[in-house]
Amino acid sequence: MITEWQSLLPEKKLEKKYFGILKEIVIDSKLCSHCAACAAVCPVDGISSGDQPIDFPNWTEKCVDCGACIKVCPRYDYKPLSGLGDYIEIFSGRSKRFVGQDGAMVSEITVSAIEMGLIEAAIFAGRSEDWSTKIVTIKSPEQLKNRKVTGTKYSYADVLIALKEAVLRYNSVGFVGTPCMISAVRKMQKTFKKFERVKLAIGLFCTENFYRHDLYDFLIEKKSVNLKNVVKTDIKKGKFIVTLKDGRKISFSVKELEEIVPSGCKVCQDFSAVESDVSVGSVGSEEGFSTVVVRSEAAKIVADYLKEKGYAEISQTSVDAIKKLCDYKVKIHPYPKKS
Ligand SMILES: Cc1cc2nc3c(=O)[nH]c(=O)nc-3n(C[C@H](O)[C@H](O)[C@H](O)COP(=O)(O)OP(=O)(O)OC[C@H]3O[C@@H](n4cnc5c(N)ncnc54)[C@H](O)[C@@H]3O)c2cc1C
Repeated sequence: MITEWQSLLPEKKLEKKYFGILKEIVIDSKLCSHCAACAAVCPVDGISSGDQPIDFPNWTEKCVDCGACIKVCPRYDYKPLSGLGDYIEIFSGRSKRFVGQDGAMVSEITVSAIEMGLIEAAIFAGRSEDWSTKIVTIKSPEQLKNRKVTGTKYSYADVLIALKEAVLRYNSVGFVGTPCMISAVRKMQKTFKKFERVKLAIGLFCTENFYRHDLYDFLIEKKSVNLKNVVKTDIKKGKFIVTLKDGRKISFSVKELEEIVPSGCKVCQDFSAVESDVSVGSVGSEEGFSTVVVRSEAAKIVADYLKEKGYAEISQTSVDAIKKLCDYKVKIHPYPKKS
């Protein structure tokens, strides 16, 4: 009998257990995006993620060879996605209820979807005082008044692992993630019925992400930053900007981070999260606004609702500016890699 977490086995490309195949073709080949979908679905919880490369210590003995990791991996049989993708409408918005990274439209869309009854809860990547990511399950607007819950953290977060717990607990769930995570969610939905409970997948525009230790060691050692004083980090127009509690800003070229950009980000061409229901980013909007790319009917209903309620200030977007960044990402991340 096929149980809920089992599915048909994929064809083996190598004579190994499935995790061994994933390790050789994706992890050791430096294609892994660290989305942690494999860790989320592993039935023996053998795959580790967090602030180190994805691994399965003792996989030769402990892997039960179910093939789940390979089925949900967005980098297995990798065909990069790119461009702006299909959309119904694009607008710029600034939430009147929340303060976030840009216009807090991710927070606004999430709370609107909860109010409408489209989703019961949503998975967010919050942070602690030392900028470690901390998963938060959002069920009420009050939780999004906390500035450590909203805002961008430029480090890997185990949101997909939390998503698995959420789909076991709730009938309808919202998810926010980088483009690789959104692609993983789509594969998870095709593989396991429970993930059909993800009713709203919000994708973030993304050029690259970092291991926490790499980025923050750099900020501490090279830029003398005290993390406890940091209220915001941002990447805008080629600059990494750290905003401190006293309002001071430390800014430097993102080129200085080149050496710590993870290899899996360097093969990614999907800037706009083309497989999301709705994508949100800063490019294309004026300061303090978020760009919102509405792709699915479900997301359109939420966007119409929040506009009708007057929850956000709406403004024009530069679609050309977004397209430029989509093209730029393809240019800087060639795949297959040039030798
Ligand atoms: C790694 C990364 C790189 C990005 N690069 C770009 C870029 O190059 N250009 C651009 O225009 N926009 C980029 N963005 C998106 C941008 O920084 C904002 O997240 C986006 O504009 C939404 O802002 P907001 O005010 O609407 O969101 P808010 O309402 O503040 O909500 C922020 C949301 O982001 C989620 N989040 C934060 N950090 C992470 C994380 N590490 N992993 C998963 N989810 C997370 C939170 O859970 C929350 O749901 C990037 C985001 C990330 C996480």
